Amino acid sequence: MSNKKFATAINCMDGRAQMPVIEWLRKEYEINYIDMITEPGPNKILAENKDSHVIESIKRRVEISLNRHASNLVAIVGHHDCAGNPVKKDRQLKQIRSAIKTVKSWNFEIQIIGLWVDENWEVHRVE
Ligand SMILES: [Zn+2]
Repeated sequence: MSNKKFATAINCMDGRAQMPVIEWLRKEYEINYIDMITEPGPNKILAENKDSHVIESIKRRVEISLNRHASNLVAIVGHHDCAGNPVKKDRQLKQIRSAIKTVKSWNFEIQIIGLWVDENWEVHRVE
């Protein structure tokens, strides 16, 4: 296991968003495994940074992924037709950028990127 690379995704719980994100990260970053942290509309949750119970839970799971699996990449995901965050794409992209700031404030030594999953379930790098 030790030579296998892990990355971390803070993704929506939506089943449609899982495989595209896993496949994109595996291909673009030559990652073997993606630790998936899921919530409904996590970009909204992290952008608002209000629900401390959920935020702490996400943070704890990120920490396990970084410490135990030596992940050094976290991807924050938003997607088309999100039931947990039913707002338009431009608003979701803003939320992804704010969510990145929230995760940066946790001061882990990691790269943080944003991903948008579009209506064709294709993945685009946001930031
Ligand atoms: Zn969703």
